[in-house]
Amino acid sequence: NTNPTDLYVGKEARFGARNYAPVPVVVDHARDCLVWDVEGREYIDIMGAYSAVSHGHLHPRVVAAAERQLQKVAVMSRAYYSTTLGPFLEKLSALTGFERILPMNTGAEAVETAIKCARRWGHQVKGIPDGRQRILVARGNFHGRTSTIIGFSSEEEYRTGFGPFDGGFQHFDYGDMASLKAAASVDTCAVLIEPIQGEAGVRVPPPGFFRELRDWCTANNVLLIDDEVQAGLGRTGKWFAFEHEGIRPDALILGKALGAGLLPVSAFCADDRVMQVFTPNSHGSTFGGNALAAAVALEGLKVLEEEHLVDQCAEKGDYLFARLREVQAEVQPLIRDVRGRGLWVGVDLEPSCATARQLVERLARGGVLSKETHATVIRFAPPLTITHALIDRAVDVFRQVCQEKLR
Ligand code: PMP
Repeated sequence: NTNPTDLYVGKEARFGARNYAPVPVVVDHARDCLVWDVEGREYIDIMGAYSAVSHGHLHPRVVAAAERQLQKVAVMSRAYYSTTLGPFLEKLSALTGFERILPMNTGAEAVETAIKCARRWGHQVKGIPDGRQRILVARGNFHGRTSTIIGFSSEEEYRTGFGPFDGGFQHFDYGDMASLKAAASVDTCAVLIEPIQGEAGVRVPPPGFFRELRDWCTANNVLLIDDEVQAGLGRTGKWFAFEHEGIRPDALILGKALGAGLLPVSAFCADDRVMQVFTPNSHGSTFGGNALAAAVALEGLKVLEEEHLVDQCAEKGDYLFARLREVQAEVQPLIRDVRGRGLWVGVDLEPSCATARQLVERLARGGVLSKETHATVIRFAPPLTITHALIDRAVDVFRQVCQEKLR
């Protein structure tokens, strides 16, 4: 008679493909910022499903909206109109300021949509011969896992053996305009970039970089495409991370939190002058924009707005940041850097002291769910609903784990 943790870990290990190495916690249920495992142990969730659970787990208003829609219709495809898609698009257009919204499911699909749109725009509007369009991407980027997208990843782990890859991408150093200009050519139709590089370890760009990038894109008639799959919808303390930079991109990609912690919902947002390259049958998705997803996403946007979660995020983020800086000072030299914006913080460890994975596993034993990114960074991206008391509890466990590691 095996215990339930071993039972479920065993089944995934036996029947699952080995493309993940999960922390050995079997989640049974969750509510807001708390998670319980199958043996009844309680955890604080500070990684929020890689930043997808901004509303907290099973937000009651989002669940109620889903339940109402489940009495009506869930999946009808875009072959017909629905009573929920239009209102969702209207709301997202108002919030983002973009005239048109193209709904998809996952972040990677919305990124693929952006790539297709940029290339066709480059051909049809800019006159670049079809097949010659180039998109500039940053080293250290993460935009998803499709073969086109990993084709321009700079991470060997994501790409090795998965070629041949789609060409048409040129690299520059994140935050460095000189290297971007050197990589550009007359065939450049777009720059695809994260406002903060999340998976790379929560890397914040140097001040002024995005303004310079914006001016360069405008001067050269190149689309600035902002991938806010992780950064968007309040995570950084503003609705959209581009607001911190004082710029407006030409197109915006959203995902993760757009599904309000319930469903995969993503979107590609742009103005008419860009979105017009899509005509009927040129792009689509069976599930993108389905009636249930639209109902859930619409309610999720209203919750962020009406519960003031974005404003609160800035303040709570400052608090989390300050508390983590305290720990950094106490456990020198274990923590090299604490960086990020809003409730999105990367704690970078001194590699000779500990790996991020070691601390993540100890945190889990202490009742805090986090996740490492690369060898040395632990990410903190809790639901925006987290309280100061829970931040304190999580930071206290973190401090204890750090002190034990130093001993
Ligand atoms: N873009 C960014 C900036 C991301 O952080 C991610 C996921 N971490 C993606 C795209 C891909 O999203 P998905 O996993 O939903 O395909």
